[in-house]
Amino acid sequence: MTKHVDVDTIKEAISQGVTDIGENRVQELEAKYLELGDSVNYHMIGHLQTNKVKYIIDKVSLIHSLDRLSLAKEIDKRAKAHGKIMDVLIQVNVSKEESKYGVFKEDLIPFIKKLEKYDNICIRGLMTMAPHYEDSEKTRYVFRELRELSQKIKDENLERVNMDILSMGMTNDYKVAVEEGASHVRVGTGIFGNRNY
Ligand SMILES: *Cc1c(COP(=O)(O)O)cnc(C)c1O
Repeated sequence: MTKHVDVDTIKEAISQGVTDIGENRVQELEAKYLELGDSVNYHMIGHLQTNKVKYIIDKVSLIHSLDRLSLAKEIDKRAKAHGKIMDVLIQVNVSKEESKYGVFKEDLIPFIKKLEKYDNICIRGLMTMAPHYEDSEKTRYVFRELRELSQKIKDENLERVNMDILSMGMTNDYKVAVEEGASHVRVGTGIFGNRNY
């Protein structure tokens, strides 16, 4: 997770073997792409406005934050124009915090079924953000529920749905997330130190 991390620091990380970075803002991702080009894979992990999809569609390898049909429609359209199948994760709001984006778990399977018509989208898995707790053990139920949801969706055997990725866990709670089956953690400050806003 390299939001607010400067390009020189990211270059250093790449030279140390980092292959993938995550950004949560389109503008920042674009600026970094200008300097880093294809030397690293880019992940869009933040809330994505529909009108900004066109700026990142050719740059990112995975969008972690698909949370609504209008966004899916736009991703599909832009991916088609670029002759690309866009890999995406569905963001799930497991904890139902109002401050968080994401599909509620009871809406998840109907939502995914509505995405079947989008030929240029491949659903690779699920993403969630847990509430912040000092005691990260309290986040465990969120990650466990995401893993269980992923298994449920696998059992549906839907077209263009893989469910091989679980993107969950940040600096504060990645250990618990990994114990619960995370394939991708999104660690920012734990690697790069505190962000200067
Ligand atoms: C900032 C951010 C992270 C990383 O947070 P840290 O606490 O710095 O590890 C992970 N995921 C998302 C979606 C973020 O915006």
